[in-house]
Amino acid sequence: MNSLILVNSRHAYSQDTEQDLIPVHKDYPNILLEREAAHALSLIMEQLDGWRFIVPASGWRSLEEQLTIYEESLQENGPEFTAKFVAMPGHSEHQTGLAIDLGLRQPDIDFIRPVFPYEGICQKFRELAPAFGFIERYPTGKEHITGIAHEPWHFRYVGTPHSEIMTFKGLTLEEYLA
Ligand SMILES: [Zn+2]
Repeated sequence: MNSLILVNSRHAYSQDTEQDLIPVHKDYPNILLEREAAHALSLIMEQLDGWRFIVPASGWRSLEEQLTIYEESLQENGPEFTAKFVAMPGHSEHQTGLAIDLGLRQPDIDFIRPVFPYEGICQKFRELAPAFGFIERYPTGKEHITGIAHEPWHFRYVGTPHSEIMTFKGLTLEEYLA
């Protein structure tokens, strides 16, 4: 597993090593991440008692799943929305098993755009995440670099100390690797 792998609209995902995927939590057997990322996420959630308040909306996706999500979004939401929020099949970070979408636990969860505000438990998660290897991957103001709209709910495992350096310096993964 290369925790710094870059996947975006210009870099397609090419699997370099065998994926080692495990559920993020026993209550969510279908939400998978790479073992190291899942373990790091568990440590954050343990500190926050986070699973009481936060739900995992989407973890690893196969190419086929990304294709289905993309096509459904095109039909339901149109091309403009889809270009902003749904990566092209083959170009989604979710295919790496290193990205997770998280939502505040509430009755209706939007699985493309879950609510993950900059306050309360979600903000506590966001602040703690870099110490465990996660970054907020699509911040506001960096849309021209990431090619993806602001997504407060999407976190990417890059490992420490990369996550801490990137957060401290305000760098996206694209900028960090450049
Ligand atoms: Zn996502």
